[in-house]
Formats: sequence, structure tokens, C-alpha cells
Amino acid sequence: MKSWLEKRAALSPDQIGLYAGNKNTWTFREMNEEATELAELIAPYIQSREPVALLITNQPQSVFLIHALQKIRVPVLMLNNRLSTKEWAYQLKDSRAQLVIFEDQFAIEADRAVSIDVLRSSKQKNIEVFEQEDVCSIMYTSGTTGNPKGVMQTYDNHFASATGSAFNIGHQPDDIWMCAVPLFHISGYSILMRSVIYGIAVRLYEKFDERRIHADLVNGNGSVISVVTTMLQRLLDVKNERYHPFFRCMILGGGPAPLHMVERCHDEQIPVFQSYGMTETASQFTTLSPADARRKTGASGKPLFPGEIKIVDEEGKNCAENVIGEIFVKGPSVTKGYLNNQQATASAFDHGWLKTGDVGYLDDEGFLFVADRRSDLIISGGENIYPAEIESVISSHPAVKEAGVVGKKDEQWGEVPVAYVVLLEELDQEVLHSYITERLARYKHPKLYRFTNELPRNAAGKLVRRKLKEEINHESV
Ligand code: ATP
Ligand code: MG
Repeated sequence: MKSWLEKRAALSPDQIGLYAGNKNTWTFREMNEEATELAELIAPYIQSREPVALLITNQPQSVFLIHALQKIRVPVLMLNNRLSTKEWAYQLKDSRAQLVIFEDQFAIEADRAVSIDVLRSSKQKNIEVFEQEDVCSIMYTSGTTGNPKGVMQTYDNHFASATGSAFNIGHQPDDIWMCAVPLFHISGYSILMRSVIYGIAVRLYEKFDERRIHADLVNGNGSVISVVTTMLQRLLDVKNERYHPFFRCMILGGGPAPLHMVERCHDEQIPVFQSYGMTETASQFTTLSPADARRKTGASGKPLFPGEIKIVDEEGKNCAENVIGEIFVKGPSVTKGYLNNQQATASAFDHGWLKTGDVGYLDDEGFLFVADRRSDLIISGGENIYPAEIESVISSHPAVKEAGVVGKKDEQWGEVPVAYVVLLEELDQEVLHSYITERLARYKHPKLYRFTNELPRNAAGKLVRRKLKEEINHESV
């Protein structure tokens, strides 16, 4: 089979496929030429069908490298560039990667590694006609609960994810998808796949600069953007003008969105689509359209076509409507398992359903409400407490920037909620506490507050509650 980029270049050669920086553009034909050249340069280094790792930033060259690897029948291992050398070494060994291709700025230690500069000076070899091997990309989970695991994403997974998304938000030939999320993360990688499948352009950003993105949204330089909550917050902080009508969709994912943020988007007429998904589902699995968002605040939507969701209780039985249990997902965008790790794969699946490790419920109309990660639940006096709910209330206070809630061991209740709070301006603990008590049931009231300058976040920018939990439970109070 031809690579997807090659097919796309044959279908719409003169269509712009990539915008980067102020002036740089590439048509699909030009992109394909770049990728083919790189593929020919990489080919002499390829010894097996094991993965080739990429250690890159959001550069046009990285886009071409990703497509080049799709041309030479090897899966790509996308290394998160914010990890430590030790963490990279773990993933390289665990995935049995045969080669690392890296940007010069990174100091990587590996048996076989080649910098992009060296690669560019090597000898070209013709790439063979190839078949599109099953696994397209591998991304490691961040390892919140145990060792990181390599999620295998097949071409089928990416294809299903891209088509499911298009059936939902619609497809317009002149769309420009803004990519300020990392390419090594599924949120970024999936944008490249959609681009070649739909034949639309990507506008690539080296990093998330809210002022620049705001200007592009106002000036009509993009029609769709993928963001995580921290990015949306930063955009709201600088927003002082209406976005251009060409901009039609903001996909919000990666974690729970505080209600006040979603409401502010409605007020500002930002077309925000709350979504739920994970590395294992090759990006969004459910999405809530703005049309439903008003009456279904807090929901994460319905599964994209043809994915399915069920909610399962501790005994493995299906939960009734509105009853919280573990979220199970099934469909063509769901991974077939973890690389070289049959044990982890076996325990993650149940008769073809992936157990997500998240808890939530489906309402009477089939809308998914995600409560939290199962491992972050606080059980206090027999009641389940979902930290995300408390965090959402705390951070809705105007003087609060963000909050992290975890359970502290307690003799009487088993666990009690404790709130870590980052303030924007001075705020009395009493005032904050009464704000919360007006809005939440008694057993959810934080028993302690810790004011801090920042919250621990992982390489994907997500709150790592585990660290707060360790800290609070080791404090001698
Ligand atoms: P690891 O699996 O190593 O802990 P991770 O799960 O944070 O890493 P991702 O696959 O990027 O890595 O994130 C998916 C997770 O993000 C989901 O399983 C869920 O916990 C959370 N998440 C995503 N969307 C939502 C949402 N709409 N509401 C609540 N949580 C969400
Ligand atoms: Mg996960």
C-alpha cells in the first residue's frame, strides 16, 4: 500500500497541507517530496520491523519525519521530549526500538541513535514498495499506576478515529486545524493523520503562545483547534475580541473541564466541544457538541461513530442509567493492546472491551459524564468523593487559579478530602471555605487547605494527584 501522505498527494497535490511560522507553507505534493527524501535517508538504518523512536519538537521537519516512517514499514515510537534520559531509556528498551532519530538539542543515550543533521548527510537508498504494517505509532502512558506501557495505535485505529471525528464535527475542505499540542502526544499526532485523510491543512505551532493563537483565532487563520484545559484558560485570560467566523470548533480534551470555564465559553460564543478520550482510543472517543452543551453541562458527549461505551460495576454487571461505575469502551479506534506486554493487555481488556480505569455514568439519553479516575477516588465514611468535582468548585472562585484535591488518611472516616490551592490574589481560607460549603454536600468539604505556588504536573501538563497524596499523608500534623 501507498503511505497516506502519498495517497493524499496524489488526490490533492496542490492543496496546502501545512502552515508553520509566519510565511511557510507546503502543499501535499511538497510534503510528500520531503517525506520521501527522509524515508530514503532513513532506509539504510533500518534492520528490522521493530519501532524507530522519534525525539522531536513541533517543527515542520517532524511532520515530514512522521510521514517518512509511515513509508518504510516501521512503527514509530513517539518519545515525550519532556521526559528524563532514564525514562527515555526505559521506553527504548521496553519497546525494543531499533533506532532513535533525534533533534540535536536532545542528549539521548542509546545503542543506535542518529541526529537529524547526521541523517540529512547520509546516503540515500531507494525505499522498497511496502505494505502498511499494522502498528503505526506507539505512545507510552505516563505511568500513574505502575510502569509506563506502550500503547499500540494501528492505521485502522487512526483511520477510525479520524472518520468518527469528521462524522461528528463535519468536514470542510478549507478547514485548517491548529496544532499547538505536542506531536508526540496523541492529540497532536492525530491532527497529522486527519490532515492526510481529509486533505486539510495543519497550522503547526512550536509551542502554545496564547497571544499568537488568540490573534490567529481572531484573524481567521484556523477553523479547528485542539486544546487542553490549561490552554483554554490561558486563551480566556487574554481574550478581548470575538473570534473570526471561520473558526468553528474547539476540541477540549485531556481532562475534566471546570464548569465555570465551559460556561464562560458559551457566554463568549466559543464553539467548545468537550471530549473524552485517551492514548488507548487514538484521541477523542466521545464528544459533546455545543448544541447539546447548554442543556448537558458537565457531560463529555456520546461516542463517535461507531464506538460504544458501557458502565460496569464492581461485580462486572452493567450499571443502570445515572449510576456510576467504570467506563468500558469498544470500537475500531481502540488499541489492540500494549506493546510487548501481554499481561498488561490481558488485564486491561474484558471480552473485547477496554477498561479505561475512569469512572462515570451514562444518563437517560446516553450522554457520558466522567467523574474521575478510579485510582483517585476518595472514600470517606463509605461515601465516594470525586476530586474533580471539588476542584471544579474551588477553581470557580475568582481568586483561585487552580486546585488539586486528594484524600488524607483519617482514623474516623478512612479518608478525608484535602485541597491544594493556587491563588491569583489574596483570599482568606474562611471565605473560600464558606464559598465551598454553599455549593457542596458536607462530606465533600475539604478538611484542610494547603496554599501553594504551583501544582505538580506531568510531562503532558496534567495534574499528578499522586504526588499531593504522598505529601499530605507523610506530613506529620
Ligand atoms: P496514564 O494512563 O499513564 O495515567 P493518562 O491517562 O493521563 O496517562 P492520556 O491517555 O493522555 O494519559 O489521558 C487520558 C485520560 O485523561 C483519561 O483516561 C481520563 O482519566 C482523562 N480524561 C480525558 N478526557 C476527560 C474528560 N472529558 N473528563 C475527565 N477526564 C478526562
Ligand atoms: Mg491512562
